[in-house]
Amino acid sequence: MIDLRIKVEPLPFSEPLVLRLREGNAVNAGADDAVLMSVDGPRREYDYHGFSIAFHADSGVSLDNDVVMIVPGQASARRLIRADSVHNTLLITEQCDQLCVMCSQPPKKQHVDLFTELETAASLAPRDAYIGLSGGEPLLHKRKLFDMLITLSQSRPDLKFHILSNGQHFEESDIDVLQNIGTDRILWGIPLYFATAAEHDALVKKVGAFDRLLESFALLFDAGSAIELRTVIMRQNYSMLPALASFLGTHLPFVERWALMQLENIGFGRMNWNSSFQDTSVEFGHVARAVDIASAKGLAVQLYNFPRCSVPVRYRHLAPAAISDWKNKFEAFCTDCSSRQACGGFFEWYNHKIGFKELGPI
Ligand code: SF4
Repeated sequence: MIDLRIKVEPLPFSEPLVLRLREGNAVNAGADDAVLMSVDGPRREYDYHGFSIAFHADSGVSLDNDVVMIVPGQASARRLIRADSVHNTLLITEQCDQLCVMCSQPPKKQHVDLFTELETAASLAPRDAYIGLSGGEPLLHKRKLFDMLITLSQSRPDLKFHILSNGQHFEESDIDVLQNIGTDRILWGIPLYFATAAEHDALVKKVGAFDRLLESFALLFDAGSAIELRTVIMRQNYSMLPALASFLGTHLPFVERWALMQLENIGFGRMNWNSSFQDTSVEFGHVARAVDIASAKGLAVQLYNFPRCSVPVRYRHLAPAAISDWKNKFEAFCTDCSSRQACGGFFEWYNHKIGFKELGPI
């Protein structure tokens, strides 16, 4: 697991500070850059506008062009953007208006507003970066989020975003804003678990969520926005996946892709693991049927978070290494697997004792 925090020595700042670390040639260092001055074992000392800032990191860890946030009073800085990674996600809020049974990041009541800092971080990202924005539900703070995206669309038109949303807060008046930001700049990752309202609403614990979702999809379609539909596979919806595939093919054929996802063993997903985990290494039939139906209707399908050896050969090409680099791991039996490069392995918190039963090198 890659540590997303690095130890920082105390500083006399009272506000969060976002800066980019420069370790190599820093000739073009800008106002938000801190330039490496010296290295002493794990201690790296940077110059930032005449201030000395010291971080501690293992010698093998490159921090060059990483964007970090230092919060007063905290002993470690957050690595918001890792320059050598394609898996950078900024957390917009931990608030949410749903309580999905598989949620990997259960909502909190309070919101810490860091839009200014996150905008600075994104503005310092490497060229052509693809940045994830997640929650909680980011659109609970829609105005600030859209303002940030509008500003970045002007200052950094090369950036693209993947935004996770529960799809409950789009309105007709957002269409112009979405188009101003640039519909080719955002892929909206939005979950749908059933083809029927009662079952979907029960799973996300919000009455009316399904109908509101369909309204949002229509608005996003009108705006020309791109949608990645996301369906976590659970015992609750496993047998209904073929019906969902038919529904999507008929009602939402315009989506960019349909991502069928395995459950993450953390948050509510861990709490509800025994009642929700569907072992698709043992029983894959309804997934296969859903993929076949969706494909026949012209939908692009992907299988996220599936160890490749859990997927029948015929469908294996649909299972990319989707787990972010900082939170994936491999089991001992993966050592000699020829598919290891193409496989995403497991979440760091995956527990094999209660996980997939039929895995092994391929
Ligand atoms: S054995 Fe490990 S590396 Fe190989 S496909 Fe299975 S999970 Fe992936």
